[in-house]
Amino acid sequence: MRYVSTRDNSKEHNFEDVFIKGLADDGGLYLPKSLNKYNVEELSKLKNLNYNELSTEIINQFSSDFISKEKLSSLINKSYSTFREKEVVKLSKVGELKLLELFHGPTLAFKDIAMQFIGNLYEYYLSKNDKKINIVVATSGDTGAAAIDAIKGRSNLNIFVLHPNNKISSIQRKLMTTVVEKNVFNIAIDGNFDDCQNIVKSMFLDLEFSKSINMSGVNSINWARIITQTVYYFYSYFRLDKETVSFSVPTGNFGDVFAGYLAKKMGLPIDKLIVATNENDILHRAISKGDYTSREVKETSSPSMDIQLASNFERLIYYINNSDSKITADIMKKIKQNSHQIEKNNLEIIQKDFLSESCNEQETLDIIKKNYEENNIILDPHTAVGVGAAYKLSFNDCVVLSTAHPCKFPDATNNAINKHKKLPQQLQHVLNKNENFQVLKNNIEEVKNFIKRKV
Ligand SMILES: *Cc1c(COP(=O)(O)O)cnc(C)c1O
Repeated sequence: MRYVSTRDNSKEHNFEDVFIKGLADDGGLYLPKSLNKYNVEELSKLKNLNYNELSTEIINQFSSDFISKEKLSSLINKSYSTFREKEVVKLSKVGELKLLELFHGPTLAFKDIAMQFIGNLYEYYLSKNDKKINIVVATSGDTGAAAIDAIKGRSNLNIFVLHPNNKISSIQRKLMTTVVEKNVFNIAIDGNFDDCQNIVKSMFLDLEFSKSINMSGVNSINWARIITQTVYYFYSYFRLDKETVSFSVPTGNFGDVFAGYLAKKMGLPIDKLIVATNENDILHRAISKGDYTSREVKETSSPSMDIQLASNFERLIYYINNSDSKITADIMKKIKQNSHQIEKNNLEIIQKDFLSESCNEQETLDIIKKNYEENNIILDPHTAVGVGAAYKLSFNDCVVLSTAHPCKFPDATNNAINKHKKLPQQLQHVLNKNENFQVLKNNIEEVKNFIKRKV
């Protein structure tokens, strides 16, 4: 498959560029030049595959110029062998709603599903390329732990993770900072997630620096992550056996929900995708009123969604502007100056596929409480936002993506119901181990110097 950048679609790229670079040199995001759509017959052939087989079929559409289907299949089997659910994900119920549990991987959030695969994909790449790669990634809390678990101890790979200092849960932090392998470096930035993400983006675009250290990125803009996440939309659709399905997706960076949109573009009969945000509601304002203006980031009980610059939204902007990279580049300039009103006809196109809602802090806690009392289930605060958005829109029959295990957010569930889930036995050890991380100012030069000293 050939790929283009959302900001310049005159040049073509292959899967290897897309995977290893993450971000295009012009600052745009990669998208396929064209997309195959499954017809009804092709969909029915996928219907009865198990999760790993389905992953292989879908991902192979995008990566066959890089890795053979046989090799891909073995990487996928290896990636998911550590999951606590045999079928990787699990469909369950909360009242009338369905939950798609995505948190059965090693670090207890949906990020593991893509990241475990990506770790093995790097190893495959390095088996054929004599190189040393430095992964640099910003995290709002869960990406970091998932990436570290996937990369730790691998040869010819270092990983540097930037998290916002004191703005993630202590369990989220400990899952990253207690890892002892020598190729893992944790950096706490005195700032918020958007600051961390900006530093990483700027380092990528500093081509002299990024090329000098063979810098590679695994943030949610990485196309390999998106396609891996597309699989569970297909999987849950097939298991539910209904004509169409809607999904409510707790969102910050528009990555997971974009994977759903991609599934729809690939022919999966999805009705609506509900974009569920916490009080950092830029995406809700954008989708309901066209107002894409970022405000101060607020700290909430769902920290992985405390984001005001939804990177992956650029991909949607490109698609709704008829794949015009010039228009997309212009819009992205305006967004950088922090003012963008989505045009009325474009908003109508977006609203054909997307709905949105936002839950404030009290509503999120109330949803955790209500579901504990009525359904005897403890929801993590991110999933609660997804459930709340479905309630507000009266989508009583949709699938809510359950993005994290509640034990990762004991403070939130303690506030709501005075109870928390314990960490699974295998992860208890992180509670008492020494933590290792470097606090740095919100300053790109400091971060660059730190990295240069370590590589
Ligand atoms: C990352 C994360 C989200 C938001 O995902 P995006 O697709 O990046 O917007 C939601 N919930 C949890 C638990 C997360 O870790």
